[in-house]
Amino acid sequence: MTEKELEELRSRALKELEEVRDLRALEEVRVRYLGRKGLVTAVVKGIKDLPPEARRVIGRRANELKNELEDLIRRRREELLRAAEDQAPGVDLTLPGRPYELGKLHPVTQILQEICEIFLRLGFDIARGPEVETDYYNFEALNIPPDHPARDMQDTFYLENGLLLRTHTSPIQIRTMLSRQPPLRIIAPGKVYRCDSDVRHTPMFHQVEGLLVDREVSFAHLKGLLTYFAREIFGPRTRVRFRPSYFPFTEPSAEMDIQCVICRGRGCRLCGDTGWLEILGAGMVHPHVFQAVGYDPEEWRGLAFGLGVERITMLRFGIDDIRLFYENHLYFLEQF
Ligand SMILES: [Zn+2]
Repeated sequence: MTEKELEELRSRALKELEEVRDLRALEEVRVRYLGRKGLVTAVVKGIKDLPPEARRVIGRRANELKNELEDLIRRRREELLRAAEDQAPGVDLTLPGRPYELGKLHPVTQILQEICEIFLRLGFDIARGPEVETDYYNFEALNIPPDHPARDMQDTFYLENGLLLRTHTSPIQIRTMLSRQPPLRIIAPGKVYRCDSDVRHTPMFHQVEGLLVDREVSFAHLKGLLTYFAREIFGPRTRVRFRPSYFPFTEPSAEMDIQCVICRGRGCRLCGDTGWLEILGAGMVHPHVFQAVGYDPEEWRGLAFGLGVERITMLRFGIDDIRLFYENHLYFLEQF
């Protein structure tokens, strides 16, 4: 090995290093020159076999070249790593990808849509209204005057300017009747708000209310309609019963029960050993409500009903704590 040959080896190594564009090519250059069997390594190893005068000069030059190349390779590696980092900051491009999981509809949304579809098939239209309401639409027009016991201050959220968050979707019925002439058939789905929170109540929940106004409407229509609905949701063999009840905006009023979905009527913890579960409230529209919207109660009759979507969803899927719907745990939501 002469000084000239060593100089040529250096030029070749520098040229190859200049052409390196990625880490793999850089490693190839390093192995070719500085690896265990590399060209420069071989020169350094052969120094001891050289004649004494050459040994000094070549020895020094070979060690200088080795150090120079090590230094250049180290710097080139840093450059390449920095460039990769700039293109995709914080991303390790060598990691395997993550599988995507498709989202799905929330169980409450699924049941809400199913309920709406049942009534759409029966010729009902969907009506919507604001969640922030006036006292008039939420209470007074529904036959709930200011001193009425159904109006507990705890019942709703009042806003500063005299407005409130609606406690039911019934104000949509009022708004619809004020803007349309009978006959009409609507359902009003939406969020409602009450000051309540435990295993069976959340401050916000979903309701669907229905209203049918026509000349010949009887309580028999109401029973037939709601029985059909219950069997669509809970299965064709579902047994139902109607119990007398009270709501300010209907007369007569009733609540509808279905036979317990767990014990099939034998009695269990869910149904409190009665064998029955309440699923909705209903009744014939009170004449005062018709008067409030300018319909003639002598000419028109109406039936109305309202149900809680969370309750129906819980009974349908066997869920025992309403708060699970709003905690957003994927292990819960993924089951539906
Ligand atoms: Zn039961």
